[in-house]
Amino acid sequence: LKRNPNEPEFHQAVREVLESIGPAVAKHPEYIETKLLDRLVEPERQILFRVPWVDDNGKVQVNRGYRIEFNSALGPYKGGLRFHHSVNRSILKFLGFEQIFKNALTMQGIGGGKGGSDFDPHGRSDTEVMRFCQQFMTELYRHIGDQTDVPAGDIGVGGREVGYMFGMYKRLTNRFESGVLTGKSLKWGGSLVRTEATGYGTVLFARSMLQAQGDDLEGKRIAISGSGNVAIYAAEKAMQLGGVPVTLSDSSGWILDEDGLDLDLVKQIKEVERGRISEYANRKSGVKYFSGSRPWSVPVDVALPCATQNELNLADAKELVKNGVRAVAEGANMPTTPDATDLFQASSVLFAPGKAANAGGVATSALEMEQNASRTRWSFEKAEKKLTEIMRDIHDSAAQTAEEYGRPGDYVFGANIAGFTRVADAMMEQGIV
Ligand code: NDP
Repeated sequence: LKRNPNEPEFHQAVREVLESIGPAVAKHPEYIETKLLDRLVEPERQILFRVPWVDDNGKVQVNRGYRIEFNSALGPYKGGLRFHHSVNRSILKFLGFEQIFKNALTMQGIGGGKGGSDFDPHGRSDTEVMRFCQQFMTELYRHIGDQTDVPAGDIGVGGREVGYMFGMYKRLTNRFESGVLTGKSLKWGGSLVRTEATGYGTVLFARSMLQAQGDDLEGKRIAISGSGNVAIYAAEKAMQLGGVPVTLSDSSGWILDEDGLDLDLVKQIKEVERGRISEYANRKSGVKYFSGSRPWSVPVDVALPCATQNELNLADAKELVKNGVRAVAEGANMPTTPDATDLFQASSVLFAPGKAANAGGVATSALEMEQNASRTRWSFEKAEKKLTEIMRDIHDSAAQTAEEYGRPGDYVFGANIAGFTRVADAMMEQGIV
């Protein structure tokens, strides 16, 4: 705490992991002797830089750029870039720390990192976004590479932004190095299923938890928050599996569509027009819009928080439990506050932490790297089959680990221990570096 003041999100993420891994650490006194935990919570490298750029009115703007290269024990640093006004060191360190264990769970040979900027693309023109991305890359390019650090998208960074950044990286290095960024366009090195992967994976994980209890997703009412990449494709997969998603949200409010979402309309508003979710209620009759709150007051069987950190608090959790929720799977990173998580677990609600449930995105990014390295291009079916297998394996590994340590059904504990063990073993074998 003293070493990292004013970093509440980072403290929250570290505490959650450290509280779980006691039983694994107790078996290995050498972890203490070699200060393994002290090394684990300290990023290998933190890069902070100025990003000056000129807006459409000819005015100079100055933002901050970051890259937290947290842990490379299992492979090159891998993790997204977030562009949002709230971005700061604490948020990126929490995201980078989570990413270490998430990436370990995928078994894809990738280390953990995260980065971004306090630049907010909302309301910015296409040319402003392009200029910002180019300026951001004029510094970031020295630190990344297909064998060192491979960024991807996150909040505020999608295919458009990745394209602009890749273009500048290519110009600066004079190399068409496909594997340096993931989430690329399908026309020049992207992987089918990458766009869908995080949302699809979250729903697959939720279904695995239900199936382990002899239940299924078929016919379940589902509340989803957010209306970005993760939320949209969580809704799509939920519908494919017979679920009925009834809500979406953004930072202004949320919609309730009792008939089940019209996904074509959602995609038109969010992906084509880059509009607000309130627009959905304007265009479809019978849909209710609630401004300034979150979608957790509706009776549902499954809740999928897919927007941002700490968006589901204790009061929300009480409401969901009162209304009979059966399963909660985190599509976003750390969307559930610690007291809300405790309540779900104490109330026997199946609870999947983000580092397990939303790992499908980064796992498919690793598949994108694999295709880039071998100059191949997989079919949608092949990539989706691989994603489905990876999500099943992550589920089974978290469930089995929890079982082995006498905590059956505790996916938080199981995922933390399984991810930590893989990283710790690699760090021990690689010595004090
Ligand atoms: P997008 O930018 O595509 O969408 C983000 C959504 O969350 C928007 O609807 C946005 O609304 C909403 N949101 C953002 N901040 C807030 C806030 N403070 N309060 C309420 N709503 C908010 O991002 P993604 O869908 O890619 O990411 C969503 C979450 O999933 C993040 O936690 C991210 O780290 C995590 N994640 C994403 C992965 C990916 O592959 N994309 C992989 C793994 C995790 P508004 O437009 O109003 O800001």
